[in-house]
Amino acid sequence: MLACMLDTPSALRALSGGYTLVNFSSVGHTASQLKPQRPNSLMKLFSFKSLRVLTLLIVLATVAIYTKGQRLSSQGWYQPLPVSLFPINADDSIETTEYIAALNTKVYAEVGDFMERESKKYKIVTSTPTQISLGPVVHSQPPPPPSTDSNALFIMLWSLRLRWWAYLNTPDDLSNKRRVRIFVLYQQGKEGVPLAHSLGLQKGLIGIVHAFARTEQNAQNNIVITHELLHTVGATDKYADDGLPRFPEGYAEPHRNPRFPQRRAEIMAGRIPISATQWKMPASLRHMVVGPETAQEIKWIASTKY
Ligand SMILES: [Zn+2]
Repeated sequence: MLACMLDTPSALRALSGGYTLVNFSSVGHTASQLKPQRPNSLMKLFSFKSLRVLTLLIVLATVAIYTKGQRLSSQGWYQPLPVSLFPINADDSIETTEYIAALNTKVYAEVGDFMERESKKYKIVTSTPTQISLGPVVHSQPPPPPSTDSNALFIMLWSLRLRWWAYLNTPDDLSNKRRVRIFVLYQQGKEGVPLAHSLGLQKGLIGIVHAFARTEQNAQNNIVITHELLHTVGATDKYADDGLPRFPEGYAEPHRNPRFPQRRAEIMAGRIPISATQWKMPASLRHMVVGPETAQEIKWIASTKY
């Protein structure tokens, strides 16, 4: 994009020292035929608008370089990846405040256990892939995600806004170079009404999880937290538009014979297929696995496809 901006007539004039560059090869002119240019052009180049565009390009380039560094260091698996969970009271209710006050790292222990158990199958260097910690409560809500039919530019701007919000609202001074931050929006919810979609962004290593502030939902919350955590380190969804796990990558045991019912769920498919058209939710992470395609995406095994 930087090249695009500089490749304008005014920029070329500036780069040639305030002179219009005549095409030497076609007309055989010499350097003495460079025509003086009005100083106005130089002023135009450094107009407020140009400086604004240049500043935006520098910001985007800096973010891109930082993001690439985050991606590489988060997929190394030579040492535990720090994962900080920051609770948010999303409905301002007393019940949610009390639920959050009673949280401790044990509530999330099965996330770390799952990552440890599944990583052993793929023989990564560290025996403890993630180091889960519970951070302070955040008193702000992230910007709402764009609708599914939003254009790419709108989604990019929202992603930048979300990262800026996370920068402003991370309540500690730890480095985010290779740390995943998951903001958990706890709420009471309504009977029969699903919560808003959670999401995990590899760009920025940020997760936004909508979770029920109820102890009996802790196991389900941990499934969502783990799913979004894996998104932040490169995993993609493995279910179809109708919610059914995709075969074979979304199946925990694709070679099982007979194929149905499956006994466990692949973490990025999130559901156990019990027939070609039916699925059920796993009770906890103990009934889930990291399949080989997800393992490739998060660099637990060498990629043969990407
Ligand atoms: Zn997902």
